[in-house]
Amino acid sequence: MALVVQKYGGSSVSDAHSIKRVAKRIAATKRAGNDVVVVVSAMGDTTDELLDLAGQITPLPPQRELDILLTSGERISMSLLAMAITNLGVKAKSFTGQQAGLMTDAVHGRARLVDVVPHRIRETVEKGQVAIVAGFQGVSSTNDVTTLGRGGSDTTAVALAAGLDADVCEIYTDVDGVFTADPRIVPSARKIDRVTYEEMLELAASGAKVLALRAVEYARRYDVPVHVRSSFSSTTGTLVTGTHGDAIDPNAPAAEEETQMEAPIISGVAHDRSEAKITVVGVPDKPGTAARIFEVVAGAGANIDMIVQNVSAAHTGLTDISFTLPHADSPSTLAALNALQEELGFASLQYDDQIGKLSLVGAGMKSHPGVSARLFGALRDAGINIEMISTSEIRISVVTREDALDDAVRAIHTAFDLDSADGEAVVYAGSGR
Ligand code: ADP
Ligand code: ASP
Ligand code: MG
Repeated sequence: MALVVQKYGGSSVSDAHSIKRVAKRIAATKRAGNDVVVVVSAMGDTTDELLDLAGQITPLPPQRELDILLTSGERISMSLLAMAITNLGVKAKSFTGQQAGLMTDAVHGRARLVDVVPHRIRETVEKGQVAIVAGFQGVSSTNDVTTLGRGGSDTTAVALAAGLDADVCEIYTDVDGVFTADPRIVPSARKIDRVTYEEMLELAASGAKVLALRAVEYARRYDVPVHVRSSFSSTTGTLVTGTHGDAIDPNAPAAEEETQMEAPIISGVAHDRSEAKITVVGVPDKPGTAARIFEVVAGAGANIDMIVQNVSAAHTGLTDISFTLPHADSPSTLAALNALQEELGFASLQYDDQIGKLSLVGAGMKSHPGVSARLFGALRDAGINIEMISTSEIRISVVTREDALDDAVRAIHTAFDLDSADGEAVVYAGSGR
């Protein structure tokens, strides 16, 4: 008998009909002889709608209250799902994050899990019942309800799978798995059968929201095999694990071992529209300036991504420093930098929220020269200007104009021969919001 953790995303439970459909799938897994723990997201776009609603009350909602508000979304779906499963003759019980033992720090809006003590979940499963857990939420040491950041239900699922020592963590969504690009933008994207934690980390960090970044970090740390698949089909999805190949057979001939381990050059192309760019113009080019700027930026709570500093013009001794950061962190960061103008003596601040970021990810990049040249060449051929560049061992990212981003993603996808030969990728549901 296996212990399976299944997570259903918002688009898989968007209305009563979908909830009943998912309930059938869960009941079938249970009847096949498995122990089942389910993590569920809020219905459809509920979380976004609740955020909009709060925004109509006040521009800056208190974080604690916002967390209480947002966690109500998952309470609705978990209870309805438990009712639907019970209706099919399988016993099911729903639990909030707090009841399920998901302990977090007290950072509202992006709390981190500090411990997982799923006693009640284990008890429920031992009684032969299905346990349904509200995704995306936990409780702090001061007994306040917290949320784990957008897409956090993935993290809840992986953390429970680790805490319960489950055999697999299945992430059910509205596409057939992890693709070589977002199928909503690139219909010719190809489903990836296997991807390593490292590559998935880079894809998730670069904007591929099919799996939340923290969920991948957690899966890697606790070695939880994750299967990303569609709740609308029975197709095998994408397996996210430690290596590309099957577990190495110690008796296999050396050559075969090598093929099993060989990484593809490119896993996929990710894109991100959630960032903006700030440029500090005319900064005196002397030791300590960058340190001071980024101290202040960090103090404003911004999670910066790319940084570019130009060579200073010899006759002025002044330079420009640009960096990207999430839209949401921009107001506080701009305010903090403005307050620094006199001290540092820079000329002005420029703010640009019309940027897009494209990232090409692949472990094989390390050992294959020419990947950057091919990427830049493809963007040139598509007439797309590159504004910023950053690289890691297995990723190259570029910033473009936001309205050129989709074309850039498609151009790069084709340039690296990632287009599928057999038909278009299916997007079963969801608004893409
Ligand atoms: P859920 O509601 O199930 O959590 P999400 O909207 O968070 O679903 O994630 C699924 C979506 O992620 C897909 O509908 C797709 O548009 C988007 N996506 C972005 N990049 C990729 C990718 N590389 N592979 C698959 N889906 C991707
Ligand atoms: N409902 C939350 C969100 O929309 C969590 C999740 O779906 O994973 O971000
Ligand atoms: Mg998600």
